[in-house]
Amino acid sequence: MASITLQACPRCNGAVLDYARSAEDGPMCLTCGWRDLQVSDAVQAEVDDHIGEDFVEHVYTHHQVGRGKPALSGWEREKRRRQRQGPAERELNTA
Ligand SMILES: [Zn+2]
Repeated sequence: MASITLQACPRCNGAVLDYARSAEDGPMCLTCGWRDLQVSDAVQAEVDDHIGEDFVEHVYTHHQVGRGKPALSGWEREKRRRQRQGPAERELNTA
């Protein structure tokens, strides 16, 4: 059985779906995809990078450097991320 806890997400205050069946399917935010898993900061940062990102485009720019449209600079991507996710995410990352 799964239960939904409203306003339980530490990132966006969204509804968190809690799978009770196994440790692998931990609680997950329905709004932003936040997951309550025991992972290293590095892994979590990588996951954060991919959330809301066009993953196909992300891979494409890595393999087609100089042939397709230019990839966004790191700063441009960070700006996008802040606009999309707001200040809560930065607090989480610096904690
Ligand atoms: Zn959330």
